[in-house]
Amino acid sequence: MTETKTTCPYCGVGCGVVVAEDRTVRGDGAHPANRGRLCSKGSALAETLDDSGRLRTPMIGGGAAGWDEALELVAQRLAETIAEHGPDAVAFYGSGQFLTEDYYVANKLMKGFIGSGNIDTNSRLCMASTVAGHVRAFGEDIVPGVYEDWEEADLVVLVGSNTAWCHPVLFQRLVAARAERGTRIVVIDPRRTATCDSADLHLPLAPGSDVALFAGLLKHIAETGHLNEGWIEAHTNGLSAALEAASGLDVARITRLPAADIQAFYDLFVSTERVVTVFSQGVNQSSAGTDKVNAIINCHLATGRIGRPGMGPFSVTGQPNAMGGREVGGLANQLAAHMNFDRPADIDRVRRFWQAPSMALRPGLKAVDLFDSVRDGRIKAIWIMATNPAASMPRAELVREALKACPTVVVSDCWVTDTTALADIVLPAASWGEKDGTVTNSERRISRQRPFRAPVGEARPDWWIMSEVARRMGWADAFPYVKPADIFREHAALSAFENDGGRIFDIGGLASLSDNGYDAMPPVRWPVLAGGRESGRLFADGGFATPDGKARFVPTAWRPPVARQERRYPFMLNTGRIRDQWHTMTRTGLAPRLMAHRDEPYLELHPHDAMKLGIGDGDLVRVQTVHADAVLRALVTDGQRIGEVFAPMHWTDRFASAGPVDRLVSGACDPVSGQPELKATAARLSPVPTLWRGLLVGEMRRHDGIYHARIPTEAGQIHEMRGWQPLPAPEGVAEWADRLIGRAGQRLEVIDPLTGAYRFANIVDGRLDACLMISAKSRYPLPDRADLAAMIGARIGEAERAIFTTVREAADAQPVRKTVCVCFGVDHAQIEQAIRGGRLTSAAEIGKVLKAGTNCGSCIPELKEILREMQVVA
Ligand code: SF4
Repeated sequence: MTETKTTCPYCGVGCGVVVAEDRTVRGDGAHPANRGRLCSKGSALAETLDDSGRLRTPMIGGGAAGWDEALELVAQRLAETIAEHGPDAVAFYGSGQFLTEDYYVANKLMKGFIGSGNIDTNSRLCMASTVAGHVRAFGEDIVPGVYEDWEEADLVVLVGSNTAWCHPVLFQRLVAARAERGTRIVVIDPRRTATCDSADLHLPLAPGSDVALFAGLLKHIAETGHLNEGWIEAHTNGLSAALEAASGLDVARITRLPAADIQAFYDLFVSTERVVTVFSQGVNQSSAGTDKVNAIINCHLATGRIGRPGMGPFSVTGQPNAMGGREVGGLANQLAAHMNFDRPADIDRVRRFWQAPSMALRPGLKAVDLFDSVRDGRIKAIWIMATNPAASMPRAELVREALKACPTVVVSDCWVTDTTALADIVLPAASWGEKDGTVTNSERRISRQRPFRAPVGEARPDWWIMSEVARRMGWADAFPYVKPADIFREHAALSAFENDGGRIFDIGGLASLSDNGYDAMPPVRWPVLAGGRESGRLFADGGFATPDGKARFVPTAWRPPVARQERRYPFMLNTGRIRDQWHTMTRTGLAPRLMAHRDEPYLELHPHDAMKLGIGDGDLVRVQTVHADAVLRALVTDGQRIGEVFAPMHWTDRFASAGPVDRLVSGACDPVSGQPELKATAARLSPVPTLWRGLLVGEMRRHDGIYHARIPTEAGQIHEMRGWQPLPAPEGVAEWADRLIGRAGQRLEVIDPLTGAYRFANIVDGRLDACLMISAKSRYPLPDRADLAAMIGARIGEAERAIFTTVREAADAQPVRKTVCVCFGVDHAQIEQAIRGGRLTSAAEIGKVLKAGTNCGSCIPELKEILREMQVVA
């Protein structure tokens, strides 16, 4: 059977996967990132190859068009805008989902030929602060370490990273190493997440106080005689200024941590030589993100713990190819191949290499400013590719307004999204499994992403679409690419062009790969110099990319998040990822088993706050900020700090009435990196008493004034509904139900205000096509969702019986927590029963009995949490 080796399209771990001819997917045992393992999302990849929601043909003004017509129109609109308003009136907004080859072409087209720096990407929301912090400290955006460091460390400090859920395979490597060598783990995170289950110490610090914690650590290192003075002298500058900035901070007051816990962390850090400090979005997505990164790096520079086995600062990227985007300069403030706008020689070098007619001479607008400029009319044509900013940008409502008002909005994507709905021209892009190119993971490892199926409909790769537009704009000679290998070779050659070692990103050793060599290229970590040898750790002996080759300590002054909790908005809203979903669910939302763990949008809050507000687990709660409000299901957990709440970022208008939670989030940005603060927005909460609950099976028309969430199941789409306003009067309720069901057919109905039971069935060709069930009184609870969904398509007699008489009735309560192990479909109740019945005491024992946790391991922290909760109860 033919097999294709490719990479997972989700997180920055960059796991290798093998796709068989029958479309089964398994981990690639030969890939160094995952050695055969996959997490729940990776293992469900085959289930996301559903093409039903795919864009298949170009669209102009909502109508189907041919490629020629669409490409001509895009080229014409861009050219007219440039001619009339100048190149800065045009912008591109790309994505860490791009392959490196896509990214390279986008960056070249905008910065070298259109002549503006206005190309930014959703990586601005992900790791721009890390990029800025690396450049400030190392002179170049370099991750010094390798994944093996996680296994060779004696202490791993995880800062602002729910690694167990967001980088699960890497976390499992750490957990395995811990079992073998007793690695100590410290988690620094305001929330008690699944990652904390494996921690020796959890520091639930106040949001945004990381700079103070690490500045205090730097001072502690100096005061306890742990400075590596010889290394500092030989390889760094600026320690005194950093120490001065770190003095006088009351760390316990700012972080709101017990002094003894801070001391325990500091003592552990200074007394352990092999320390890796891993950081992620909790560090980056902050108005002080760059300072947080540098405060962490300062501690590693002070101890000389960098670039040697088991030690170093380690940023993990959120997206599969955020690193590749950084290599090609895909952010507005970067040039290509790790060159910079602040060095005129770099601008000139890139111009000469590209033979660019109108090279951008200054950085462009970063994401938040870019969409603000669309809104105020300075940008008049925007091309959005492989991302969904109408859902994922902070203040997403304003982004939607901006796009509605923009004269030209082009969107290239694989699926219909909230953003494609706002486009004048939609271009169907090839998806994972159809695309061909490379991605780079968090440890600088370039891997091939190979196609194993033909593009759906008329979909085309992003690099092809952009090259075709470039040709139509008159730049055919500069965009002659016929395959991704052509682009990769050019990208590799640029990295080596006039590079005398001053730029560490150099993959010149791959610039002369043949087509076959490119196709067969094994995963390789950069730099890759002539001879093609893979590189390992960097900076153990200095060699930083600064003019004097020395790293720079950066003085970091602590400042709180921009938003303050105050009387009107007393809570701090944090947002982030959950275990089984990816970004705006365009792909993971297609796999019912990935919906089984958390199937509705929710808000985590502490029991103390829940009790004070009269909100129970599973109730509706309204969360309001100055930007917007949303009604979500409450998930009450003591993992939250009092006064702080958390909502997942994944749900959009396509899945829930609440829409994207990023509508609520502030657009305050880090002044250095321009990365928005997605983890600290002041909010207020109020309970939303539910008057009725409903289930609708089939498609549902969006309806304001009620809570609804779409839940894909194996049997079809189910909509969970709740209302806080009374149902319409009996004479109007059928019309109301018609609007929700929104499809033609023969209608059967029961309307019984006395019992509160309302049931509607839509029959098409003698079979059940859709049904809506409402329970306004708990005496008549609703049927089990799965039973109900299974009835769709049943013949009219059976359907009538099922809906109106014999449906097995289940408990009305539908907790937000359900399936724990999605690999084997094991739910919370089964696990509790097995623990009780078998007197089980460990996740391993649960695995033996139920198999839960024995495949990808992503649910092991939750198994431990259930054990912990039950032992507390016992
Ligand atoms: Fe994909 Fe999971 Fe690996 Fe991330 S950890 S690359 S999501 S399989």
